[in-house]
Amino acid sequence: MHFVTPLVFPSGLSACGPGECRGGAVTIGAGAHTRDLLGKAHAQEPPVLAVTGECPTVGVAGGLVQGVGHGPLTTLRGFVVDNALSFDFITANGKYVAANADSNPNLLWVLKGGGPSTSAAVLTATF
Ligand SMILES: Cc1cc2nc3c(=O)[nH]c(=O)nc-3n(C[C@H](O)[C@H](O)[C@H](O)COP(=O)(O)OP(=O)(O)OC[C@H]3O[C@@H](n4cnc5c(N)ncnc54)[C@H](O)[C@@H]3O)c2cc1C
Repeated sequence: MHFVTPLVFPSGLSACGPGECRGGAVTIGAGAHTRDLLGKAHAQEPPVLAVTGECPTVGVAGGLVQGVGHGPLTTLRGFVVDNALSFDFITANGKYVAANADSNPNLLWVLKGGGPSTSAAVLTATF
């Protein structure tokens, strides 16, 4: 998955934690590790805050977000999964699907905590 590492700022979406929305959002490819995301997030003008785990080599759009994900900012901004706005993924029967609050919200709910590798191969995640 390491070849699927594009990071796109901004996505035009608002970044929403539990209870609040603020700032810009980022779309990351499935291969992006925490250090890829945080390096680019902090290089933005103004810098973008991203809720991640602590390990630099964990896949943010893979096991971290799909397994809920906790980190130093969790007390302030919730779990990594609380900040997920949208996923693009391939289902087990080979269909490309985008899930967000407007489109396939039930599948967004499944991906937000259903556990990694249980329902889809995630291509991108937007936070
Ligand atoms: C050193 C270390 C420090 C850690 N620190 C933290 C921390 O601070 N906070 C925290 O919450 N967790 C932490 N973790 C746990 C980490 O979040 C999990 O191990 C997570 O599953 C790693 O995901 P990965 O995608 O990097 O790993 P992988 O081993 O590649 O994948 C883990 C699981 O996710 C699946 N998966 C991977 N990519 C995708 C995809 N694109 N679509 C669907 N399924 C996918 C895999 O099939 C596998 O079942 C840490 C782990 C380590 C080893």
